[in-house]
Amino acid sequence: MTREMRELQPADGKVFGFYCCGPTVYGPAHIGNFRTFVLNDVFRRVMEVSGLRTRHVRNITDVDDKTIRDSQAAGMSLSEFTRKWTERFHRDCEALNCLKPHIEPSAVEHIPEQIEMIEALVEKGHAYSSDDGSVYFRIASFPEYGKLARLDQQELELGRTQDQRANADEYEKDSVSDFVLWKARRPEDGENYWESPWGQGRPGWHLECSAMSFKYLGESFDLHSGGEDLKFPHHENEIAQSRCACGGHFARAWFHPRFLMVDGEKMSKSLNNLHTLEDIERDPGATAMEVRYVLISAHYRKQLNFTFDGLHAAREALGKLTRSEALLAQAAGREDEKPPSYRELCRLESLGVFAPALTALNEDLNTAEGLGQLFKGLRVAAVEGDPLVNWLGFHAVLAALGLQLPEPEVPEAPSEVVALAEKRQQARIEKDWAGADAFRDELNKLGWSVKDGQNGYELKPL
Ligand code: AMP
Ligand code: ZN
Repeated sequence: MTREMRELQPADGKVFGFYCCGPTVYGPAHIGNFRTFVLNDVFRRVMEVSGLRTRHVRNITDVDDKTIRDSQAAGMSLSEFTRKWTERFHRDCEALNCLKPHIEPSAVEHIPEQIEMIEALVEKGHAYSSDDGSVYFRIASFPEYGKLARLDQQELELGRTQDQRANADEYEKDSVSDFVLWKARRPEDGENYWESPWGQGRPGWHLECSAMSFKYLGESFDLHSGGEDLKFPHHENEIAQSRCACGGHFARAWFHPRFLMVDGEKMSKSLNNLHTLEDIERDPGATAMEVRYVLISAHYRKQLNFTFDGLHAAREALGKLTRSEALLAQAAGREDEKPPSYRELCRLESLGVFAPALTALNEDLNTAEGLGQLFKGLRVAAVEGDPLVNWLGFHAVLAALGLQLPEPEVPEAPSEVVALAEKRQQARIEKDWAGADAFRDELNKLGWSVKDGQNGYELKPL
């Protein structure tokens, strides 16, 4: 809001509460959307790995102009349609290793809360109903309107003096005007309407985040985020609704990552450069983790340009981190061991030579510098510090960035080795332990080790 650098701390001294505007579930999210979601995930992880607790709320927009329009085109009910795309969103988030928000409320599940908020706004004179049964927010009643997006004073005056109203969920900057809180039912809405004191209809898009952030974080909370396009009108409208209805401060700080571009251009359907995770994974060998690496490779205040060359560079970088992990683990005597759990990594006292990487991430979430320091730490670790502390510190920084390293490639065992392993497995099933041991010795002689796990056995070259 002030464009000043300030230290972020939970206002209650305990849990850092933040709200992130979630996806509109009418199709697959694109990698631009994921730049915003992944950076929010890194934001949360950096706080947690630094020892803070968080409460992360991210909504699902499952009713608006677009979800209704496209569900009808698909011949599906709104709930069926949005469930399908919500599930897809969750799968993509999991592939990108994003932590699940603590609370993920949806607009449709919070219609009564939204109606209550409109009632409060009408009662306090901030909202009025129109002849058709829609309800609008009167921006002239909130002098601070436009402060976050730094709207031009002239545009604001125009919006306040002209009796203009915006009924669409999304609109451009040149139409500063009273915006819709409740949309009267129209024939094209089909069955997608709810009863309200103003008649049948549905909430305007901007309202859901105000109602749900109030319910789950209260009238004042630590931070609110979304992509840079959400500053106006969405966040400006949220501030107006929340402050006028609830009286609190609303968000104490804001976080808006810049947009992702593709090959130097804005992503759009007409340019055919609107990539989903699925599109990218069609590139031979490409993985979601490489996409994540690219998405965090630039500072959030900078526009990031996605290219397939960038994706290939991410593959190299992840490969290097994987090889380095093996060396760090070996030095620490933790070879073949799984890294500590996320919770354990959040409680470390020291990150050894990797401490500067976490410090960089804590400086205005500088992910580019954090990655730079991670690689620098690898060079330093070769000659300095306690190997076990360094190994743990390395994993803590990976956890803060949300990077999962690919499993080192295990060469495929030749058929005679597999045949022996199968015989050993059969002997074990028959509880012929001596036989099983004999097959293990034979496997060892051929240069292979065999390890039993929950999903059967695993063969590795000795
Ligand atoms: P939507 O599903 O359209 O509501 O968008 C979900 C999130 O993605 C919002 O926070 C948007 O600001 C963000 N977003 C949309 N396009 C981009 C982009 N090209 N780069 C980064 N974030 C984006
Ligand atoms: Zn929102």
